[in-house]
Amino acid sequence: MGKSFKIAVLSGDGIGPEVMAEALKILDAIQDKYSVVFERTFANVGGIAIDVDGKALPEQTVATCKASDAILFGSVGGPKWETLPPDEQPERGALLPLRKIFGLFCNLRPAIIFPALTSASSLKEEVIDGGFNLLVVRELTGGIYFAEPKGITGEGSERTGFDTMKYSDAEVERISHVAFQTARKRSSKVCSIDKANVLSTSVLWREVVERVAKGYPDVELTHMYVDNAAMQLVRWPKQFDVMLCGNMFGDIISDEAAMLTGSLGMLPSASLAEGTFGMYEPSGGSAPDIAGQGIANPIAQILSASMMLRYSFGMIEAADAVDAAVEKTLNQGFRTGDIFQGLDGERKVNTVAMGDAIIANL
Ligand code: NAD
Repeated sequence: MGKSFKIAVLSGDGIGPEVMAEALKILDAIQDKYSVVFERTFANVGGIAIDVDGKALPEQTVATCKASDAILFGSVGGPKWETLPPDEQPERGALLPLRKIFGLFCNLRPAIIFPALTSASSLKEEVIDGGFNLLVVRELTGGIYFAEPKGITGEGSERTGFDTMKYSDAEVERISHVAFQTARKRSSKVCSIDKANVLSTSVLWREVVERVAKGYPDVELTHMYVDNAAMQLVRWPKQFDVMLCGNMFGDIISDEAAMLTGSLGMLPSASLAEGTFGMYEPSGGSAPDIAGQGIANPIAQILSASMMLRYSFGMIEAADAVDAAVEKTLNQGFRTGDIFQGLDGERKVNTVAMGDAIIANL
């Protein structure tokens, strides 16, 4: 028997457990095919953890994650918990502490539109003909969302809200290396997004990115102001390979890129720490509107598991095989409701049938 990896499985709420079941079936198939063992430990997170353990991220769950090589995360939240104080709600109470505890400083969000699904995009067919595949590399633990001071002071019309936008040389250097290294495994192009015409943070950002780029002469580096990048994404998304962004710009750009692909049910994400530890989860939420019906699209969760194989376990061949199986399944016409358009050759299937079809193609 070959290697063994420990996975903390945090399925969460809503469609989380339904789509997680399909990702775990894929991991079973990978185990058999590649002679590895995935030791899984299940733990509560989000709303279910609030109900069972009294808080969104129980100590036991943190301990399980610490004892693991990676976290495979479903999604959290739902109407039942929306009236709790913000810090106790499933998303804020679980995701932010997880990022902090595990030093998840880097968020990778691919936006892929498979050729079979170009008509599901909000963009015109001629703009995305043949599909596109870009990756947003977002700094996740610094920048304006976290830097101090921040707050609201004063009274009456003098009452003032303020935040601090701040990046250190070391923070920019660390995320830049991830972007360049990742680009090398793709089309070797990095576009760094900033607002260097206005923000000092961005002037430093640009300087550091250029310095780091000298160590990657095989990767092409360009810079783009964030407002232009937002326009270029809808004008011609195929021009991008890796988009390197700070926290706030990455938040916005990655959601914009995601929506160009048509369905949230298709998009995985990875949040990485230094070393190989990472947390892998779909970009979408718990989809309360369709939870419990067995109709959610499991592809985002399955591709998240594939990212885990690639980035935490170094199983590139297995990850490529999962990605190829997903693409083949789409080419065969299998569609869950969110991506079904009633076109010739499409077959509407439920969550389990989609998972089965992908396994059959592995
Ligand atoms: P959502 O992503 O859950 O749903 C938005 C729309 O996309 C819905 O129509 C939903 O049915 C659809 N959708 C999402 N994933 C799908 C899938 N796999 N298959 C088919 N359709 C899918 O966003 P929302 O409605 O804004 O939020 C619902 C809940 O999820 C809220 O409680 C929110 O706080 C939470 N949320 C959690 C995360 C997370 O766990 N990381 C992220 C975003 C939202």
